[in-house]
Amino acid sequence: FRERKLIVHIIPFENRRQILVTHDVTETERNEMMRRDFIANASHELRTPLTVIVGFLEIALSEELDPATRLAHLKLMMEQGQRMQHLIEDMLTLSRLESVDHPLRSERVDVKKLLDRVLSDARALSAGKHTISLEVNGPDISGSPDELHSAFGNLASNAVRYTPAGGEIRLKWQRSSRGAQFVVEDTGIGISPEHISRLTERFYRVDKSRSRETQGTGLGLAIVKHVLLRHGGNLSITSEAGKGSSFTVSLPGA
Ligand code: ADP
Repeated sequence: FRERKLIVHIIPFENRRQILVTHDVTETERNEMMRRDFIANASHELRTPLTVIVGFLEIALSEELDPATRLAHLKLMMEQGQRMQHLIEDMLTLSRLESVDHPLRSERVDVKKLLDRVLSDARALSAGKHTISLEVNGPDISGSPDELHSAFGNLASNAVRYTPAGGEIRLKWQRSSRGAQFVVEDTGIGISPEHISRLTERFYRVDKSRSRETQGTGLGLAIVKHVLLRHGGNLSITSEAGKGSSFTVSLPGA
């Protein structure tokens, strides 16, 4: 059953009256459209690596390969398999975050400990190519440590992935009027203004090939958005193309 609100406009036109009937796209329909888009995007994202894997398997089955070529093919198949794994993990995370059967389990969060993990993950991903610092000056908060780790980790890993080697990344936890803020600043590629409002949409990317090259699934900021919705927080983004970006998460105090 599709709810549709019909809107009838009566428009005078050259002594006659025209009737224009339009319809309002209801919430149900909008959700349905988003679901369809999500399935189409997710299927496409999974099909691409699978096509590569099946292609290499066909070659392996039909030709004798020298050991070096065989190894190179295996490595490429492994990379594509890992890409599918990341995507499926992010899709499952998003669906858990959206599920009503999965309420937030809130507890006191040791923010310093959590951010030390985020810092060491970011440094591992950077492999020494960036200067990454962390300052912790804010209070502890309540929330789900796992969900907050995933949100903060996604922002920090984006800063690494979208900042060329030699750049700087600053992670800061500070007190704010509402509670506390996590700020991630980078000196990376930046984002032009027209993209900023769409970044938390699933699979929205400014540059698909760069996102894929750096293991992006296109779901990181959607995960951040849903974690923040569950915690009563919000995300603000300021950025300048070619100069760098700043992502600020604001969370209510305990
Ligand atoms: P992805 O896996 O593609 O990085 P995200 O949802 O995490 O997916 O981010 C969506 C898009 O936002 C990215 O593809 C990229 O274009 C842009 N983006 C996110 N973080 C940054 C950043 N720190 N600097 C520049 N662009 C960014």
